[in-house]
Amino acid sequence: MQNLHSERVVIVGSGIIGLTHALTALEAGCTVTLVERNSRPLGASIRNFGTIWPVGLSFGKERTQALRGVQRWKELARDAGFIADACGSLSLAYRNEAWSVLQEFAALPDSAAEGFELLSPEETIKRHPLANPEGLQGALFSPHELCIQSATALTALVAHLKSLGVNFLNRACAIKVHDDAVELADGRMLPFDQCVIAAGEEMQILFPKELAESHIRRCQLQMMRTSPVNQRLGAIMVSDLTLAHYPAFQDCPSIANLQSVLHDAMPEHHQWGVHVIAAQHADGTITLGDSHEYGPDFTPDNWSRVNDLVLGYLATFTRLPSYRIDSRWHGVYLKSTIGQTQVVLQPRERVTMVTAMGGLGMTLSWGLAERTVSNWLEAGACIIS
Ligand SMILES: Cc1cc2nc3c(=O)[nH]c(=O)nc-3n(C[C@H](O)[C@H](O)[C@H](O)COP(=O)(O)OP(=O)(O)OC[C@H]3O[C@@H](n4cnc5c(N)ncnc54)[C@H](O)[C@@H]3O)c2cc1C
Repeated sequence: MQNLHSERVVIVGSGIIGLTHALTALEAGCTVTLVERNSRPLGASIRNFGTIWPVGLSFGKERTQALRGVQRWKELARDAGFIADACGSLSLAYRNEAWSVLQEFAALPDSAAEGFELLSPEETIKRHPLANPEGLQGALFSPHELCIQSATALTALVAHLKSLGVNFLNRACAIKVHDDAVELADGRMLPFDQCVIAAGEEMQILFPKELAESHIRRCQLQMMRTSPVNQRLGAIMVSDLTLAHYPAFQDCPSIANLQSVLHDAMPEHHQWGVHVIAAQHADGTITLGDSHEYGPDFTPDNWSRVNDLVLGYLATFTRLPSYRIDSRWHGVYLKSTIGQTQVVLQPRERVTMVTAMGGLGMTLSWGLAERTVSNWLEAGACIIS
């Protein structure tokens, strides 16, 4: 196998983009240093649902990348010792238009080999008794999706990467990227042969001009977690609002009808960008969200109206036994305004900036890291066989 023998790779940011690039570069033979301004990753990568979500992506290159992510997460769960629950996802349809979208999606030629199952209301409730039977038209089960507890998984990944030899510099803030070295706030210079900027929503500090020119905006999301629920959802559950949200269903003829019906019937959900995912973890807790607020910056408020909208909508498609909300938080990510699921920039030679993964960074990051490292190989950086 080709090898990037002893190339010095410096990565800024130890969220999932930084960690996946670190492991992939290490496996290719590089010497890797990871710079994190906090004592551990505290950005979007530990604030998300922890769903690995190929069902959200259109067929083609990105879906293949997402399925590669599923494979890598399973391998890493085994190697690093965390749980990646291969529970799959259940998209529940309550409106006729949503049921039409699911049927059209299942009939697409590309769907044939994917193991999707269209379920009647009776089959759905038999397999997932916590789904709400009232008004249920049917559901689509997809077997691919994984559910992980992000904070636990990232802690395990960091420990695993350290044991393999990645050098972590925590509480180290990168303030400037020079042609061949990263400068830290305490004056240290870290020389590199290749540099990856994986600074999440803070990209503008290092490359403001490149970011401003890249059709990217910030998005803030409101999230919650329940107390442990002693019955299982049996899959990551979503409903009509989520079908309208992800690219996967955009080729279905009925999607425009569904979007228009939802827009008219649920203007407040539309205003706050609310669609609801329920992802249950091994300890029984359920991560719930979310909303989408766009802007250059945000108020720090955790809006109780948004939480009410999420919980109210959750009750339309689940019948959960009693639970408490134990925790509420925000997350922020960068997202392309022109429909790209990821933005990779080369602000200068040997510097790769990976950003704007939107709500799919956990899913797409492994495949993306492999592409970055194979680009280095193609560029002929110090290759030995
Ligand atoms: C609420 C929410 C829910 C989501 N749900 C899902 C989901 O279910 N599935 C999915 O696939 N994706 C999901 N996503 C998207 C996914 O979480 C993000 O795309 C992904 O985490 C981005 O990873 P990152 O490494 O780029 O950023 P981050 O995780 O934000 O990491 C960036 C790191 O860089 C560090 N840093 C920044 N600047 C510097 C500096 N100058 N020097 C040193 N360190 C620096 C930060 O401290 C941080 O640790 C969700 C996102 C959010 C916010």
